[in-house]
Amino acid sequence: LNRRLAEFGTTIFAEMSALAVRTGAINLGQGFPDTDGPEAVREAAVRALRDGRGNQYPPGPGIPELRTAVAAHQRRWYGQLGLDPDPETEVLVTAGATEAITAALLALLEPGDEVIALEPYYDSYAAAIAMAGGTRVPVTLRPSPSEGGAQGEGTFRLDLDELRDAVTDRTRLILLNTPHNPTGTVLSRDELAAIAELCVERGLLAVTDEVYEHLVYEGEHIPIASFPGMRERTVTISSAGKAFSFTGWKVGWVTSTPELVSAVRSAKQFLTYVSAGPFQYAVAEALALPDSYYTQLREDLRAQRDLLSEGLAEAGFGVFRAPGTYFVTTDIRPLGESSGIDFCLALPERCGVVAVPTQVFYDHEAAGAPFVRFAFCKQQDVLADAVRRLKGAP
Ligand code: PMP
Ligand code: GLN
Repeated sequence: LNRRLAEFGTTIFAEMSALAVRTGAINLGQGFPDTDGPEAVREAAVRALRDGRGNQYPPGPGIPELRTAVAAHQRRWYGQLGLDPDPETEVLVTAGATEAITAALLALLEPGDEVIALEPYYDSYAAAIAMAGGTRVPVTLRPSPSEGGAQGEGTFRLDLDELRDAVTDRTRLILLNTPHNPTGTVLSRDELAAIAELCVERGLLAVTDEVYEHLVYEGEHIPIASFPGMRERTVTISSAGKAFSFTGWKVGWVTSTPELVSAVRSAKQFLTYVSAGPFQYAVAEALALPDSYYTQLREDLRAQRDLLSEGLAEAGFGVFRAPGTYFVTTDIRPLGESSGIDFCLALPERCGVVAVPTQVFYDHEAAGAPFVRFAFCKQQDVLADAVRRLKGAP
């Protein structure tokens, strides 16, 4: 393994899911739902397979039906904010958001360019920046005390001064993620406006990972591409994995200007060439599901979040509010623990639950040491069982 990748090892998600399988523990580590997405959408995939649609190489940018559906989705949810991409030139279908992120960085970075990422950050970011020859510059989200609200003690917030100070002459882009994995934070309108101003002022690009765009329980999701001066400098990324509970399908997409989409496509064509055909037809149908689908998904997840957050608090964890995503972050210091890594390695044996130590998402490891992430995208009885086990832990 070369020096660029040697530091990364196996992804924490594979490691913790393997631990769950080995120990028979409830897996609240890796973020994937334990119920599949809508039956009508699965049927659409079966129909495409059976009818021979997408069984041979689909078009490089994605099938027209899906590009049209992605553009319509942007218009439907964010059209009032001015987003209305052209399906011909401003949409690219990718193999999940993961490929979109990597392809964007490969396409846009020169060796040595600096990339600012909000820490803790999703694990593929560091590896993708390294593969592209970039240098990551983490800006740490800090736990802030309660802002009221029923859920726990506070959220992780961005220090805008720290962000401004992190920009140098070598900064090429800001890699943003809102709603934010692993903290559950949703960046506010004011925070996004400040980030947008900074990008415009310093001539930076934004690559924004919005895979949890529909999983917001408090506040609202606002694409940074909709802020003044940002449309022409933003690569927006999303995916069918989280919005439709098909994380195994690996269908994602990019929306941006024709120039930026074409740049990302230059990299994508040599990573995967094209993305799996039949699923594209099914995701095109999924994107057109009525508002009630999206509302129900959100309400179900909100109830799951509440159940797990309250249970974790009763079990003695410090619990941060999760305004978005699949994840609730906890502080284990009230339990008399200090190392999330040691805690998570011991947890399956202690009580049959797997979680993820947040520290692995940090460069400043000490800042993340006492935090542990639990996924709540699981059925309520599974979460209730996990809570029972955590409360009874020796
Ligand atoms: N970004 C974030 C923040 C994620 O949590 C995930 C995991 N689903 C991804 C990207 C990857 O998405 P996909 O499975 O579509 O590649
Ligand atoms: N996004 C999921 C998580 O954060 C997992 C994705 C993966 O396994 N790469 O848990």
